[in-house]
Amino acid sequence: MRARAVRAAPRPAAADRTCDADLAASVLDGLARPQKSLPSRFFYDARGSALFEQITALDAYYLTRTEIGLLQRHAGDMAALIGPGASVVEFGSGSSRKIPILLQALEAPAAWVPIDIDHGMLTHSVREMQARFPGLRLVPMHADFMQPVGLPAHRLSANRVGFFPGSTIGNFRPHEALAFLRRVGATLGRSAAMIIGV
Ligand code: SAH
Repeated sequence: MRARAVRAAPRPAAADRTCDADLAASVLDGLARPQKSLPSRFFYDARGSALFEQITALDAYYLTRTEIGLLQRHAGDMAALIGPGASVVEFGSGSSRKIPILLQALEAPAAWVPIDIDHGMLTHSVREMQARFPGLRLVPMHADFMQPVGLPAHRLSANRVGFFPGSTIGNFRPHEALAFLRRVGATLGRSAAMIIGV
């Protein structure tokens, strides 16, 4: 019997494929720079989030265990500064492994608002947190935190605290970090607190 070479059907030229305009613009902009970069929001679909979770388990990735250790040691002090009845707004909540430590330390937290661009991960972590904190109001928001995010103020308490661990801020260029912090300030309000892992 003779083997017959089978050719895959030719793939359409790149120009023919529908291309997400946001991705295209970001690739053009980011890869034209001397220091190549792409915005982190493109990393996190179901596969990207699963890969990130695997990375956090590596010995070399000290961030997760260091931040969890810091939270375990200092959540009590943070809670004392924040005060009772806080609504915690988490930017890029991911698998939500760190937030339970803060929520457990807080006195009567009012709400947790996880914001994430990966809808699957958001749904999954909300389900887990519902089981873990049955009395807590959960207000998930599927949104891009690099854009202004309008919070549903009527569902939140006036005491607000932003939570942004994981050194995600380290993924930003300095002017992006500044713009992010300004937007967060506008979102949370002047009297809010903010916890950032850098
Ligand atoms: N805060 C978690 C997860 C960090 S990974 C921790 O400390 O372990 C970063 C998370 O931010 C991912 O879940 C990713 O989906 C989300 N993310 C990244 N860019 C985003 C964006 N522009 N808007 C909203 N979420 C984003």
